[in-house]
Amino acid sequence: MKRFDKKGMLVIPDPRKQESPTEKILVIEECYCPKGHSLISDRVVFDKFKGILFKAKRQEVSGMIALSPVYGEKNRISLDINLVDGETWDFYCPECKTVLPNYKRCDCGGQLITFFTSKDADYNHSIGICNRVGCQHATIHLGEELLTQSLLESF
Ligand SMILES: [Zn+2]
Ligand SMILES: [Zn+2]
Repeated sequence: MKRFDKKGMLVIPDPRKQESPTEKILVIEECYCPKGHSLISDRVVFDKFKGILFKAKRQEVSGMIALSPVYGEKNRISLDINLVDGETWDFYCPECKTVLPNYKRCDCGGQLITFFTSKDADYNHSIGICNRVGCQHATIHLGEELLTQSLLESF
């Protein structure tokens, strides 16, 4: 069984799918704010995988959002806030309150927000998650490459 590990990401056969053990998933194991605080938290767990937990703010309202660390999965939990489709939120580090930077505009009109997978805030090792509720667009950057689901199969 080959395991691929790169800068906080792990590609493994999906342990939850006994009937199709070759199906692979990418799990974000490390995730940081621009100042190097970890956003992976065992306070919110999705199918045994620790979630990505961060602060979200919109106008005067703020709360927390937790995302599944499994790439492509749409599981999400929000605490203290209601997420309404179409709204855009700003994302912050819960520890130092630094805003998580925009990476680029999403096709939906929202912004892809950068979550670094290495402590040194390197955009080449990051994931981009759209800040517009209802848009599930997420990108993963490995060096110069943009990771796609089909690329997962080659690991
Ligand atoms: Zn921080
Ligand atoms: Zn979007």
